[in-house]
Amino acid sequence: MNPEPATYLIHIEGLVQGVGFRPFIYRLAMKHGVRGTVENSNDGVWIHAYTDNGDIESFLKAIEEEAPPASRIWRIGGKKTREKVYNGFHIVESHDRSTAITQVSPDIAVCEDCLADMKEQPNRLDYPFVNCTNCGPRFSIIKDLPYDRDKTTMHVFTMCPSCRREYEDVNDRRFHAQPVACANCGPHYTLWKGGKKTEDLGIILKSVSKILLQGGLVAVKGLGGYFLACDATCEGALRRLREAKLREGKPFAVMFRDLNAVREFVEIDAEEEKELISWKRPIVLLRENRKQQLAPGVSVGFPTVGAMLPYMPFHYLLFETLPLPALVLTSGNLSDEPILTDDKEALQKLGPVTDAVLSYNREIYNRVDDSVMFVVNHIPRMIRRSRGFVPAPVPLAYSVEGILATGAELVNCFCMGKDHQAIMSQHIGDLKNYETWKFYSETIDRFKRLFRVEPVLVACDLHPDYLSTQYAMETKLPVVQVQHHHAHIAAVMAEHALEGEVLGVSFDGTGLGDDGNIWGGEFMVCDYSAYKRITHLSYVPMPGGDKAALQPWRMALAYLFLLYGVKIKDMKLRVVEKAKKENKLLPVMQMISQKINTPLTSSMGRLFDAVAALTGICMESGFHAEAPMRLEAAASEGEKGKYPWTYGETIDVLPMMRAIVKDVTKGIAPGIISAKFHHTIADIIVKITLKMRKETGIDRVILSGGTFQNRILLEESEKLLQDQGFCVYHPVEFPVNDGGIALGQLAVAAAGRERV
Ligand code: ZN
Ligand code: ZN
Ligand code: FE
Repeated sequence: MNPEPATYLIHIEGLVQGVGFRPFIYRLAMKHGVRGTVENSNDGVWIHAYTDNGDIESFLKAIEEEAPPASRIWRIGGKKTREKVYNGFHIVESHDRSTAITQVSPDIAVCEDCLADMKEQPNRLDYPFVNCTNCGPRFSIIKDLPYDRDKTTMHVFTMCPSCRREYEDVNDRRFHAQPVACANCGPHYTLWKGGKKTEDLGIILKSVSKILLQGGLVAVKGLGGYFLACDATCEGALRRLREAKLREGKPFAVMFRDLNAVREFVEIDAEEEKELISWKRPIVLLRENRKQQLAPGVSVGFPTVGAMLPYMPFHYLLFETLPLPALVLTSGNLSDEPILTDDKEALQKLGPVTDAVLSYNREIYNRVDDSVMFVVNHIPRMIRRSRGFVPAPVPLAYSVEGILATGAELVNCFCMGKDHQAIMSQHIGDLKNYETWKFYSETIDRFKRLFRVEPVLVACDLHPDYLSTQYAMETKLPVVQVQHHHAHIAAVMAEHALEGEVLGVSFDGTGLGDDGNIWGGEFMVCDYSAYKRITHLSYVPMPGGDKAALQPWRMALAYLFLLYGVKIKDMKLRVVEKAKKENKLLPVMQMISQKINTPLTSSMGRLFDAVAALTGICMESGFHAEAPMRLEAAASEGEKGKYPWTYGETIDVLPMMRAIVKDVTKGIAPGIISAKFHHTIADIIVKITLKMRKETGIDRVILSGGTFQNRILLEESEKLLQDQGFCVYHPVEFPVNDGGIALGQLAVAAAGRERV
C-alpha cells in the first residue's frame, strides 16, 4: 500500500441523486478520514478525495457496499489528481459538466426512520407526508431537472424554519430532501363525504375506517394516482366495487396490513418476501393458502393474490386505526381509462360511486400505477412496470440518443433513448381508449422535456392500424418499423446486453407478420438488425378477426372445423352446443370456408384460447387474456402426460387437438387436459430449439412474449432448456408482454445506424 498522501477524483454514475447520496458520501468520508468535496453534477456525483496514507480502496469499497438503498451505482471511476490538500469534507455547489443528464429516482416507500419520526417528532406526529432523502415521492412529483424543489409539485409549499434547518444541515437525514415537509408547512389530506369536507386527520382516519368496516368504498389519493379501497374480506364490498368500476372479472390487488397478515392468507417464499418488502413495494403475485381466505370477489376464481404492503405514511396510519387484515386497493378509474390523478376529476368521477373521497393538496405530476411482479424459478420478473421502477434506465453499450420507440397498442409503454440509456415509460395502457391516448402523447412530451431529448428517429410496430404506429408516422421523422415478435426478442437482448445471433421463442396473442398474417407462435433466429422466421405454429383461420381474442369459443370451432369439417355440428361438445344455441355455429363455419373476415394466425395465445374453450374452462373472456389465465389456473399439479404433435415446415398441433377432443368426450377432467396441454407446449419449445441449435450452433435462447406470463409454461420450459445446456434469457426488469416491446424497437432502430 502506498503510504504517501494523495488526492483522487472520483466519478460515480448511476442513480445517485435524490436518494441521499451526498450526505452518505459525507458521512463515509468522515468515517474513513477522507478530506475533500462532493458535488452533484448533471452526469452523476463527483468527489475530490484526499487521504493521508493514499489508501482510497477501502473508501471506494465502502461506497459500493453501503450505498443508500434506493441508489444504483453503474460505474465508479477514479484517478489520482495533482490537486491541493483539503481541510475537512464539504458538499459543494452543483456544476454542469456536460450535456448528459443524471437519472431521476423512482418513488420510494416511506422508510423506517420516517415512520419513527411520526411517533416522536413534535412537528411530525402522525404527519402523513413525512419523507427524507431515503424515501418519499420522486418521479411522481418531478416536472423538470435538475431535481430541485422548485421543479417539483412541492414548489407551492414554503418550508417552515425547522424544515429549512434540516434541509440545509448536511448532517441531517433531510439534507436537500426536496419534498421535505412537516405538519406546519407541508401538504394535508381532505376527506369529502356527503357534500362535507374535513381536514382533521383524526376525524378522517376514524371516518374512513368506519366506512371500510361497514363494507363501503373509499377513493384514496395515492402516490401516483387515485385508488379505490374496500375491505378485502367482505364480499358485499367487492360486489359494490365491481359495479363502481363498471368492469369485468379481473382480479384486484390487495394491500395487507403487514407481513404477518400476508402469511395468514397466501404462501410466500424468501424471494417473494424480498420483493414485497423492498422500497419499491410492488404488487407480487402470490398463491393462496388454506389458512384464511379473502372474499371470493377479490381473485374471482384464480388461486393467486396480487399482494402488496403499505408504502405511504397514510397507509400505516390507516391500518393503526382499522382492525382489518387487508384492503383491496385498485386503481381509481372507470373501465379502461388511465388511473385518475386530477383532484377535481376524481371527485366528479369517483365521488358518485364511493362513500367518500380522500384527497390531498400535493399535485401528482407523473401518473404511476402500482407495479406488478411474479417470481418464477426463484427469479423475480416484471409484469407491469410503474411505481418504484420508472424512470430507471437500461444502460446500453452504444448510443441511442434521439430514438423514440412508440411501443405496441394494447399494453403500451414507450421508450426514449438518451445518450447510452434507454428510458422506458411507466405503464400507459390501451391506446384505443381516448383518455389513455391523451396520457400517452402527454407523457411522451413530458419525457422529451424532462430528459432533454429531441427525437430524430422513431421506431414503431409493423401494424399500420396501431395508434402507436400512427403516432410515429405523424412525427414526420424517419421511421423504422419493427416486426412485433422481433421486437419482443430484441427487448430481451437489450436488457441482457446480448450481441450476435440468438434463438428466439416469441409467443403471444397477436402481432402483424411480414406476410400479412397474424403471428404469435414464432421461432426465430435473430440479431438486432434482422430476423429469420425458422418455423411457427401452422396457420389456422381466426373467424371474426380481433373478436376471436375475447371469444375463445371461436378459436375452438376453428380448430374443430379443420379437424372434422361440417361434421362438427353433430358433435356432443359443450362449445359446439353453445354456438348452436346462440345460432353462431353455421355462420362461423361459413366464415371459415368462405374466408370472410377470417385472417390466418399462428398465434399461441389463440391456441390457449381454443383449448380453454374446448375444455369448457373459459368460453368467453371478460378481460384481456382471461382464457389462457383460467386454463393455467385449472392445470392439475400431479399430471405429467403430454399430447402428440408433428413438425414439418411448420408445427402442427392438430394431433394434439384431436387427442384433446377425445379426452373431453371421455369426460377426462379439464385440469388434467390443461396440464397435459402445458407440457406439450413446453415439449414443442424444447424439441424445436434443439433442432435449431443443431442447425445453427447457437445455444442462447430467448423466451419472450405475453404467453410467458404463464407460470407453468415459463417454469417448465426454462428448466427443460437449461437441462439441455441452453443459456436461457427472459425479461426480468421489463414486462414480457407488450409493455416491454418498445425497448426492442429502440434496440433494432439503433442497430440500423452507426454505433457510437
Ligand atoms: Zn424517510
Ligand atoms: Zn415544516
Ligand atoms: Fe406481443
